[in-house]
Amino acid sequence: MSYCPDCGCKMYNGICTNCHEDLIIFDECLEYDIPMSDEFLESVDECRQRQREYAKREDVKRAINPRHNE
Ligand SMILES: [Zn+2]
Repeated sequence: MSYCPDCGCKMYNGICTNCHEDLIIFDECLEYDIPMSDEFLESVDECRQRQREYAKREDVKRAINPRHNE
């Protein structure tokens, strides 16, 4: 289990359940076929950009894989 270096919430594959909540909701909406508003999809896009930058950070890589620097 990985934890976000920013907020300490659980993180899966570089996606924090708190910082990138919109991406988690987006996946759930797809899975359960829930309709999404245009506004929500825009905020998902914005969130995805943030998550890409986030995943490049060294502290995030270490949190994902503790052996990253060995
Ligand atoms: Zn976070």
